[in-house]
Parts: sequence; C-alpha cells; structure tokens
Amino acid sequence: DAKVKGNGSLVVFRPEMDARYVEEQKLRTDLRQALEDRNLHVVYQPMYLPDGSQIECFEALVRWTHPEKGMVGPNIFVPMAEEMGLVSLITKFVIEQACRDCANWAKPVPVSVNLSVHDLQNADIVGFVTETLAKYGLEPSRLHLEVTESCFMNEPVAVSAILNLFRQKGVTIAIDDFGTGFSSLSYLNSLPLDIVKIDRAFVRDIGSDHRRLKLLRGIVNLSRELELKIVVEGVETPEQLEIINRHHIADLVQGYIFSPPVPADAIAGLTPKTHLSNKASGGVRRRAK
Ligand code: C2E
Ligand code: MG
Ligand code: MG
Ligand code: MG
Repeated sequence: DAKVKGNGSLVVFRPEMDARYVEEQKLRTDLRQALEDRNLHVVYQPMYLPDGSQIECFEALVRWTHPEKGMVGPNIFVPMAEEMGLVSLITKFVIEQACRDCANWAKPVPVSVNLSVHDLQNADIVGFVTETLAKYGLEPSRLHLEVTESCFMNEPVAVSAILNLFRQKGVTIAIDDFGTGFSSLSYLNSLPLDIVKIDRAFVRDIGSDHRRLKLLRGIVNLSRELELKIVVEGVETPEQLEIINRHHIADLVQGYIFSPPVPADAIAGLTPKTHLSNKASGGVRRRAK
C-alpha cells in the first residue's frame, strides 16, 4: 500500500507502521485519561554537597504507571503531553504535589520542579505558583524552577520577563541540561538564572575525555564569576565524583552515586554518604604515592 505525498514523494505504509501508530494513539488516549484522573505521581532525587555530607535540595520528577505497560518514563510522555497541548496539567500537578510534600520535610530544603517550554508562554504560571506556595505556607525560597535552553528559543524576551517575575518573588531559577543542544556561554550572562545544572553527558566520560573536562572547567569558572551555583547531574561512580571534587567543579551533586529518585515517604530514610567521597579521594592519594 503506497501513497503519493503532496510533494510528489512516495511514502510506503508497512503493516508494522500501522501497528506502531495504533499503539501510539492508544498511549495518547491513556495519557489523556491519566491526566484527567491526576493518575501520576512524583519522586524526588536528592542533591548532595559534593562530599556527600548533606542534602541541600530535591528535584521533583514525574512518573506515570500505565495500567498495562507499567512505568512509562517522562522522556516519553512529557513530549507527548506537549504535543497534545496538555503539559500544563503535568506541570500544575507536579508543582502542587512538590509544594505539599516539601512543606512536610523535617529539614527545610528547597524542591526543584521542571518546567516545559509551553509553561512559559504566558504569565499565568506565576499566579498559579504564588497561590500554591501560599496554600501550603511555603516560602518562595523553597521553590526552584528548572528551564532548558529550548524555553528561550521563541520569545526569549517574554520568557525572561516571566522568569524575572519569579525571581522578584524569591523563586530560584536553574538552567537544566546545560552543555547539550545549542548551549551558548553568553546565555549564562544574559538569561535570568541562579543555578546551572551541568548535563550528565559531561560526566559520562569525564575520566577519559580531557578536552571535555577543560571545557567543563571553563564553564564552571565562568559560572562562578557570574555568581551562579553549579549542580552536576548524572554522577554514577566514585571515580567521576573524585574528579569533580579534585577540580572543585560542583556546588551540588545529583546522581545515582548518592541516590536515585525516591518516593516521598523514603526521603526521611536518606543518610549522609561521606564514605563515597572519602573512598574516592583516599584511592587517589594511594595511587599518587
Ligand atoms: P532532568 O530534568 O535532566 O532530570 C534528570 C534525569 O536524570 C532524571 O530522569 C533522573 O532520574 C536521571 N538521573 C539522575 N541521576 C542519574 C544518574 O546518575 N545516571 C543516569 N543515567 N540518570 C540519572 P527522569 O526522571 O527519567 O526524567 C527525564 C527527564 O524528563 C527530565 O530530565 C526532565 O527533562 C523530564 N521531566 C521529568 N519530570 C518532569 C516534570 O515534572 N515536568 C517536565 N516538564 N519534565 C519532566
Ligand atoms: Mg531537571
Ligand atoms: Mg537535567
Ligand atoms: Mg533532561
């Protein structure tokens, strides 16, 4: 079965494409239902001081448990919700849940919520956040918002204005996944930011890719000059942590080495992880002898 597209090129429809299409449509229908029912939940990943001694922040990460497929990752269903024009439902759900949970934490550290490009197309979000903080009696300083470079691609001036409204209220703004995509160092200076989250692509081969490490150190030095805090994401091994600590790269470290994202009721059970950074630096001292 073949069809001629408008531009004259031939598109061949194979049965498995139909099957995939049907499955995607079903996933969309199920997602719409899950969003209506607010059938999502939020997990939290700690950001530790680089020596593992303390947790200073938690990132809220959304989860969807599909009735048949089980856990579907946000990398799949968040873009889907964006296409369907429904991502603001996810954002509002996560902000509400994160504020409610955060208000109950024994140690009053902030919670960090991811925004989508669609959330910043008008200033409604500012009102919603303000009301939700008030509802749970949370100081604005307890909320961080994570944006990506793609949020600034259209209407950078309008988006910056919205982020500045947040900052005037005392909400902290982080740029997420920095160093991927079309990152420009001038963004660090021109956008209204407080925190830079270095993408885990920088961490993966930090031990072997020396040019990349130099680039990272350059980004970090510039960020410090601009009084931005640095969070390094995706740290998995003691070796990676040791290099990050040796070069004083991170203000905070978020990664599987310290903890995966955990359910809200597991937060109280998280412990200091100083043994992980001690082991790493101890290993280097031994090697140096
Ligand atoms: P992100 O904001 O960069 O979040 C970090 C992702 O890296 C999370 O994946 C986290 O589980 C994962 N991660 C953390 N430490 C490690 C590590 O050491 N190694 C590896 N390999 N991965 C690590 P997750 O939860 O699957 O989220 C993926 C992306 O989905 C997020 O990337 C974010 O862009 C988006 N997302 C998640 N929750 C939300 C949300 O509530 N709203 C919006 N708009 N997007 C969300
Ligand atoms: Mg994030
Ligand atoms: Mg990230
Ligand atoms: Mg990401």
